Amino acid sequence: MKIARFTYQGALHLGDVVGDYVYPFAGAADLLPVIRSGQLPARSETQLALADVQLTAPLFPGKVIAVGRNYAEHAAELGNALPEKPLLFAKLPSSITAPDSLIAWRTAQSQQVDWECELAVVIGRRARNVPESAALEVIFGYTVANDVSARDLQKAEPQWLRAKSLDTFCPLGPWVVTRDEIADPQALALRTVVNDTVMQNSSTAHMIFKVATLIAYCSQQFTLEPGDLLLTGTPAGVGSGMQPPRYLQDGDVVTVSVEGIGALRNTCRVLTD
Ligand code: MG
Repeated sequence: MKIARFTYQGALHLGDVVGDYVYPFAGAADLLPVIRSGQLPARSETQLALADVQLTAPLFPGKVIAVGRNYAEHAAELGNALPEKPLLFAKLPSSITAPDSLIAWRTAQSQQVDWECELAVVIGRRARNVPESAALEVIFGYTVANDVSARDLQKAEPQWLRAKSLDTFCPLGPWVVTRDEIADPQALALRTVVNDTVMQNSSTAHMIFKVATLIAYCSQQFTLEPGDLLLTGTPAGVGSGMQPPRYLQDGDVVTVSVEGIGALRNTCRVLTD
């Protein structure tokens, strides 16, 4: 099932996306309680065209955990050594923004804003010290994230909270695909297109630490809660790895997509005051 969150005629809904249509769930407007309950609500008979609804981010998680340098070619393009264990950092949930919304920043904040297409895992069950062999069972589903990054801030500071957490720096969506629809999370094509140019074109097969390893590792450090989000890293092809670097500019349209899930498109707005 593909679960979208959207507004229609001024009201928030959750619904089941099938093709170009969405079927609202009765009495459910937030995904977190649905995940915690362990039960999907029944969908109504009402059929709405996706073109007639406004998608929001599919959920607002308790925590957003992200993984740096989890693809060898991406670590190399930024001149970094391969990590010996997962390199975890956090993004603030307030950075999450909707499909088709603006990624916006001021030039006083950053002049080196970059894209990162990532497979995002939505945790379905409380997990502490889960073994790798059972780690995939704690997943509720998957979505797509753009781990937007201010490279100048990232290079200037020894930790990345600010560089990764400016408002609108975590586009998320377009919906959550439940775990049963993704046979193998390590066999999904990843792609970023900026305007009409393909920038990233890779596969989750190239992750250094696989999804199961990441979940097991995280759960050894802290408790994973239902609805927590795990961003699994980005492949090569970010703007700061290019010669010369190619950073996002006002008006750029950036689309990140993951096979079997969907495409997430946002427009950049740079404020110069
Ligand atoms: Mg990233």
